[in-house]
Amino acid sequence: MPSEDLDISTLAIRGGRSLDSHASSILFPLYQTSTFVHDAVGVDKGFSYSRVSNPTVDALEKAIGVLEGTPPAVCFRTGMAAVTTLFLSVLRAGDHAVLSEVIYGGTMRLFREILDHLGITASFVDTSDAANVERAIRPETKIIFIETPGNPTLKLTDIAAVAEVAKRHSILLAVDNTFLTSLLQNVFELGADISLLSTTKYIDGHNATLGGSLATHDEKLLERFRLIRKTIGTTQAPFEAWLTLQGMKTLPARLKLHCENAQIIAEWLEAHPAVARVYFPGLDSCEQKALADKQQNAPGGMIAFELKAGFDATIRALNHVKLCSRAESLGGLETLITHPSSTTHADVEPQVRRALGISDGLVRLSVGLEAAQDIIADLEQAFEAAGCCPASEEVRNEVR
Ligand SMILES: *Cc1c(COP(=O)(O)O)cnc(C)c1O
Repeated sequence: MPSEDLDISTLAIRGGRSLDSHASSILFPLYQTSTFVHDAVGVDKGFSYSRVSNPTVDALEKAIGVLEGTPPAVCFRTGMAAVTTLFLSVLRAGDHAVLSEVIYGGTMRLFREILDHLGITASFVDTSDAANVERAIRPETKIIFIETPGNPTLKLTDIAAVAEVAKRHSILLAVDNTFLTSLLQNVFELGADISLLSTTKYIDGHNATLGGSLATHDEKLLERFRLIRKTIGTTQAPFEAWLTLQGMKTLPARLKLHCENAQIIAEWLEAHPAVARVYFPGLDSCEQKALADKQQNAPGGMIAFELKAGFDATIRALNHVKLCSRAESLGGLETLITHPSSTTHADVEPQVRRALGISDGLVRLSVGLEAAQDIIADLEQAFEAAGCCPASEEVRNEVR
């Protein structure tokens, strides 16, 4: 089967996929089964029970491994199942972790609600400065976990700089690479030990499944992930794996279009009078543009922007979109729009929210593959209808 010297767009379609030995179907078969029959006691064909392993899930793991440039990945039922399995694999009572403070809400909740009670502690710091990471390290720190770009403000962390700190202290470095995937940001080349993906997002790309993966070159860690996974039952399901295998074939093609669309929309937003600020690594005005250019192959398809209007007008704008969908998640074909301060980050204290840059007017856009001009027209009419445009606001005051 295809090897590393093929182009990534070829590998996404062909990589890791062996021909079905039974009927030579072009698509790898869906083994929708809980269990496998043994030929004799102690003799099987490599599979015994789908919580442990399943041929369709195996195929997905090989395919993701090819994209990551690693041995086959370990796949999970959700991204959070991957996060949970990772921490339970490397941490025990008394251990400590250092994490990005701008991070997926579920990852923070895992520590606050579960791991804390098991005697595992964490420091959430501004990892955009590697010195903050180093200061947070304690003798009992076992892992550094960063998310870049971070959710929802797209704050970037210098992976190579944090990797240098991690190496010096002999601590594992894991990167949640969900927003970019290995195609736009190769975390292993930058010195990370583990790559985590919520395959729910760009890897599947069709808003059809939930899933997660862990990839690493370290065979001992892979073995540990598989052991914890089969013990707590966080294994990916065959049907989800099969759908993900199909969706990820177009990942390189989709990412190209996501990035193109996002660049056009970010530039339009930046020039719009209703918009105070745009966070997008593809803009020259982005404070971290140099870092983005250094560690990313492209800016990605996520945009965050701040409306000048306050909380109420921002919510009104979201309620007026007609094409964009008000929905959490990201990375699919449909453009999704969210208001973090009233939804995903509503339970974070207001001062903390503000300190993290999650203002009342902050909007997160997962740019889909509809025509950019249609997305722009939808946002324009929503800003206008909500009274977010300074001009329309003035006009309204005059009329009053
Ligand atoms: C969605 C997401 C997760 C969690 O993935 P699920 O598949 O929803 O469990 C973790 N990290 C990031 C950055 C995400 O966007």
